[in-house]
Amino acid sequence: MTAKKQEIEKQNELLQQLKGQKSVTRDGRHIELCANIGNVHDIGTVLKNDAEGIGLFRSEFLYLENKDYPSEDAQFAAYKEVLSKMVNKRVIIRTLDIGADKQVDYFRMPKEENPAMGIRAIRICLQRPDIFKTQLRALYRASVYGKMAIMFPMITSEWEILKILEIIEDVKKELESEGIAYSKNIELGCMIETPAAAVTSDILAKHLDFFSVGTNDLTQYTLAADRQNPDIGPFCDTHHTAILRLINTVVQNAHKNGAWVGICGELGADLELTELFLAMGIDELSVTPSAILPIRKKIVETDVSQIKDKVLGKYL
Ligand code: PEP
Ligand code: MG
Repeated sequence: MTAKKQEIEKQNELLQQLKGQKSVTRDGRHIELCANIGNVHDIGTVLKNDAEGIGLFRSEFLYLENKDYPSEDAQFAAYKEVLSKMVNKRVIIRTLDIGADKQVDYFRMPKEENPAMGIRAIRICLQRPDIFKTQLRALYRASVYGKMAIMFPMITSEWEILKILEIIEDVKKELESEGIAYSKNIELGCMIETPAAAVTSDILAKHLDFFSVGTNDLTQYTLAADRQNPDIGPFCDTHHTAILRLINTVVQNAHKNGAWVGICGELGADLELTELFLAMGIDELSVTPSAILPIRKKIVETDVSQIKDKVLGKYL
């Protein structure tokens, strides 16, 4: 075996020793280290990599893999399976994020000049509450099988949250009148994917339990840099001060208003920024399963009190 291969194996073995350990910094701060998944079949790798929960379950696969709207029962079965397999670890399910790069023919969406800024995600749900209600009924019915949280994508304004909460109340009343049980402890949150949501996160936090920063879209919308364009190069600088300052604002606004904050966009797995996120006071990181153990290593090696001022000064 070459020296390089030996070194890689040694590093892998060291990472394996982190399984079963909590992700706690040297000065005692626990970070919830979770996994992103796009399908029920991904649970195997989530458990193998010892995720502390699921921070983003992209529910789109239910719609993308079907030729017609998935029924309430089909959705219920998928959510129940994920919750049961994660045995009381928190599972954050994101409501459908169709549109823009994820088109589904049977939705029959009018063609748009600029779909990333058009009718996508929560905008479809608020324009077509029948589709949204079916998903919410399936989620609430499944909620008794584990520890569920629900979050909403592409939020820009407080009125959207108020409307969502109204629809949820209707769904709960419907289920109650039908004698169907649901959990009374479902945490509700939203994605922070637009500059508008980040800047007004103090207002949004008053209605919600948590935020999850979607840095893929937040970067696209803040830097006006199409995430689908492979030639965008240096114009899409994921470490841009604007992005990092917005994330810091979100953490501060959330904490002042009693909400917690995670990052589920790809930046959450960027080891170069782990110290910064810890210094900001981030509560949760949700990443691709294979990134869990390397990030846990970084967390357990970091003493936030020692690095905080230097790191915040360097990036913000
Ligand atoms: C994001 O925008 O960062 C995100 C996690 O959502 P998606 O990549 O599914 O748009
Ligand atoms: Mg997104």
